[in-house]
Amino acid sequence: MATDDGPLVGAIALTRTLPCLAEPGKFIVIGETDAAIDGVLPLLNAILPNVVSYHPFSGVMTLRRRPGLITLYPDQVMITQVADVHEGLALLASMRDLLNQTWARRDEIQPRAEGRRVPRPLDVYELLPRTNCRACGEATCMAFAFGLLESRHQPEECPALADPAFAAQHQALHEMLPPEEGKEAPAINLQAL
Ligand code: SF4
Repeated sequence: MATDDGPLVGAIALTRTLPCLAEPGKFIVIGETDAAIDGVLPLLNAILPNVVSYHPFSGVMTLRRRPGLITLYPDQVMITQVADVHEGLALLASMRDLLNQTWARRDEIQPRAEGRRVPRPLDVYELLPRTNCRACGEATCMAFAFGLLESRHQPEECPALADPAFAAQHQALHEMLPPEEGKEAPAINLQAL
């Protein structure tokens, strides 16, 4: 339990693992914190470069990691694409340290309370051909959707999206996703529809 000058979180206990849809063979790891962590989220929102989304009213933040995502809830941490329990425990311990180190600097960090939103994996998945053809190198379109959100892939790696029949979806993906570093999003000919 947090005290005025002690750590915010004493431990994050691993409570559950689930199969990871984003990368078959890997796991989602869920841990419970022994203290509420929503108070540290505006501080993380101010200092971390890898915030994917932040919903201040529900106290939920998602961070990008490579590979995978980390979602922070008021008393839970969920991490995707984890190799095994050993890695899951190490990642939860790192998250506890990050939360505590950030909380310890709370007097010097200007909190950023406004929310951020980026698309959810399902938003991206629904724009893909959903044939699971594997031409992009991923086993499923859902795995490719996670890869797009994590900037591991670009839409052009899905050959089916080059078909004029998918021009609108292709365009929507580029509007939804951040452009690749140093590159403009390519113009897509919607007239070809
Ligand atoms: S190439 Fe496109 S259609 Fe095929 S699995 Fe990848 S995302 Fe799905």
